[in-house]
Amino acid sequence: MQHVEHLIAGDWIAGRDPFTVVSPYDDTPVTTAPAAAPHEVAAAVTAARAAQPGWAATAPATRCEALRAAATALETGTDTLAGTMSAEMGKPVTEAAASIAAGVATLRQYAELGQLHGGRTLAGDPTALDFMLRQPRGVVAAITPWNDPVAVACGLLGAALVTGNAVLYKPSERTPATGWLLTRTLAPHLPPSVLSMLSGAGPTGAALAESAVDVVAHVGSTATGRWIAAAAARTGAKTLLENGGSDPLIVDRDVDPAWAATHAALGAFANAGQVCVSVERIYVHEAVADGFLAALAKEAAGYGIGPLVDVRHRAAVHAHVADALTAGAVAVAGGVIPDGPGAYYPPTVLANCTDDMRVVEAETFGPVAPVVTVASFDEALRRASRSPYGLAATVLTASMTNAQRAAWALDVGTVKINAVFGGAPGGAAHPRRGSGQGFGYGPELLDEMTAAKVVHLEEPPQGW
Ligand code: NAD
Repeated sequence: MQHVEHLIAGDWIAGRDPFTVVSPYDDTPVTTAPAAAPHEVAAAVTAARAAQPGWAATAPATRCEALRAAATALETGTDTLAGTMSAEMGKPVTEAAASIAAGVATLRQYAELGQLHGGRTLAGDPTALDFMLRQPRGVVAAITPWNDPVAVACGLLGAALVTGNAVLYKPSERTPATGWLLTRTLAPHLPPSVLSMLSGAGPTGAALAESAVDVVAHVGSTATGRWIAAAAARTGAKTLLENGGSDPLIVDRDVDPAWAATHAALGAFANAGQVCVSVERIYVHEAVADGFLAALAKEAAGYGIGPLVDVRHRAAVHAHVADALTAGAVAVAGGVIPDGPGAYYPPTVLANCTDDMRVVEAETFGPVAPVVTVASFDEALRRASRSPYGLAATVLTASMTNAQRAAWALDVGTVKINAVFGGAPGGAAHPRRGSGQGFGYGPELLDEMTAAKVVHLEEPPQGW
């Protein structure tokens, strides 16, 4: 059992109002964690505000060196952290270790990019000097989810810290010990109060979002993101929102249905469907629909996944499935809550789905593949784009024409052709509509964490 503490003003503090996280494998308690009250949030903001100018005045190369050292410490501590992450949110330990490795790589990437991040010189009057520089925004609140807790936090923290901001980090209440261990690993490499950690649930996050910070960076659900945007509109803080998705997968008439099913299964069932860019709905051409459904049902039956994060989330996932079944969908795999302890839910494939079902329209965030049959590729493109979300989309097709049309037509930030996951390093996209705003990752996140200033510098008059 782990006992989480806050890190406020450079001190580890036991805190109050503890809550307990139970194992998604067997319901046993794994973590107790305190919930930071508004006065504790305010104390952390004040300390961060005081520490930030010194950090901003530190040479970028020194800040980069600190981040590099923190990355090495994180790599060294992978086994313990992976065990804790797995115990809190159900990701198998090997997958947890891989996601920590991704976090280490992200910290190292920002440690290199940080020292190259600057402004540009302007073509002004030759007797003057005109240039743009980038300055840290100040104090950044980083509010993160549980589904990939270390990799997501490393992105926001790495980019904010390397550019000279102080960070107030609030990990998810579902993975508090993971966030606490991550902070214990990173903070010793930074000056006191440059990184603080506040444990707690929604009310702690809300207090942070309403406080006098300069940026609120939130990765999490759309509902929370909208609440934060409204709070920040009142304080004047900049918001950076990476929120929910309902990513479509389009299966064209000219692909091998068995091959398409392997991609669909990976997209819908990886991390038990708890990935922001999980496949949430599938539009399959009627020419290959039967073969595809049969192959996907087979994939689902053999697909090994861990439990969902907790039974509360499982109930929400199952409610979407149950609604769809009532409205005429047919479960060709899964769809039933298993007996026994933990928060397990089987890989589920639903046939005969329609766009108005919640399982198609909303984000289910579970191992569920709702399949809609369409008569043409055009119809698939149209229905795929009609969504309150605009995160990413995948198209499986043998036609270069259809691939290029889809790349233009799909109203989302990321389009993947013939692979559900993957992409070159350094790619970054703007999420659209309910999926958020701003660059949440990639080199452009360094721009988000800094403000541009333009300087015009003339010589003083001669002869004084
Ligand atoms: P969530 O929004 O419920 O929680 C995320 C964080 O926000 C937690 O730390 C939580 O305590 C905090 N929070 C809750 N209410 C708050 C409030 N009123 N003010 C401030 N903070 C508050 O999301 P979740 O359930 O933890 O995560 C799952 C969601 O995250 C899914 O929708 C998923 O798609 C999304 N996600 C998106 C991305 C992306 O890059 N777009 C990546 C990972 C997860």
